[in-house]
Amino acid sequence: MDDSSKNLAEVSEVTEAFKQFEHFCKAMLDGWVVVDTEGRVVKCNQFFSNLSGSKTKTILKANSLSEIITFELAGKMLEIKDMVQSPAPTRYDEVIGNISSKPERPLHVIIGLYPFTQNGTNIGAFILVRDVTAEASLQGKYKDKATQSITDALTGLFNRNYFTQYLESQIKTLEAFPDEEPQKQMSVIMMDIDFFKKINDKFGHAAGDHVLKHTSDLMKNCFRKTDVVARYGGEEFLAILLGTDSGGAAIAADKLRASIESYTFNFEGTIIPVTISIGVAQINLGNETGEQAVNRADLALYQSKHNGRNQVSIHDGQVIVPLRIKSSAA
Ligand code: GH3
Ligand code: MG
Ligand code: MG
Repeated sequence: MDDSSKNLAEVSEVTEAFKQFEHFCKAMLDGWVVVDTEGRVVKCNQFFSNLSGSKTKTILKANSLSEIITFELAGKMLEIKDMVQSPAPTRYDEVIGNISSKPERPLHVIIGLYPFTQNGTNIGAFILVRDVTAEASLQGKYKDKATQSITDALTGLFNRNYFTQYLESQIKTLEAFPDEEPQKQMSVIMMDIDFFKKINDKFGHAAGDHVLKHTSDLMKNCFRKTDVVARYGGEEFLAILLGTDSGGAAIAADKLRASIESYTFNFEGTIIPVTISIGVAQINLGNETGEQAVNRADLALYQSKHNGRNQVSIHDGQVIVPLRIKSSAA
């Protein structure tokens, strides 16, 4: 047992609140596991053992939960080690659960993730796994269809519909945890490629698509794996940064801005200069809807355009302020 396992075991054994929570969990008609930062299972319930087709003993002996079951969202693996590092409670819908002992029968599941922290460091997570295979097949939602319905074909990012639903459900999840202040912070970032019409006009529509695809890849690499990035419209993108206040989100946004500015967009031998403008807003939990926060991020984005593009602005609730980091071009 390494330190992370020991700490987690202590928290789960010693804490009276956790014991009470466990009694409640035993009565639950969902599978759940407690994993450490390495993804090793410290605890699980009988329902999870049934769902995964493995004995509790086998699950607890495994080096990682991923030896028992792996999770896939929109065609991508949700790595347990990344999930455990999530800064906030998170819900994942439309997940495919691949059971290693029954690879021919993937499950449709919903995952509820609650990270455990000690002195501000993640030491593990409680992962609830709800099997919705029966419901999904009733609705005729098969794997490809489910993936297509939540992602954008050109960029592979989530689509606007999924983003909107995810944002509202994440706000509800966080509002249900009043005492977890740092984890409750969440920001939205709105991004728009500068003079994209000119790129299409000058280099052609296929070059425009190339820019969209590569900009999206830079976004996927720039943000945390647990953040949700979506293509909101033509050349507009949105991201939700969990556990991040507006200052932190603005720094992440500026890293992305700089990485796009310095990236070489090479379309069939032609180099296309690309920059992006960004607006940031921290969600005022309990006092505004996701839509209102997105509108504030949009106002900040408009300000970035107005101030000369290729920059980040923050809507702080009252006023819009430009991020004071010198751009690499300056
Ligand atoms: P600004 O800096 O103010 O954002 O200027 P802009 O030219 O980027 O803004 P505008 O919204 O006028 O132009 C967006 C363009 O994006 C117009 C539209 O034809 C193009 N577009 C939208 N979707 C796609 C797509 O999927 N592929 C390509 N190639 N172009 C697209
Ligand atoms: Mg634009
Ligand atoms: Mg636009």
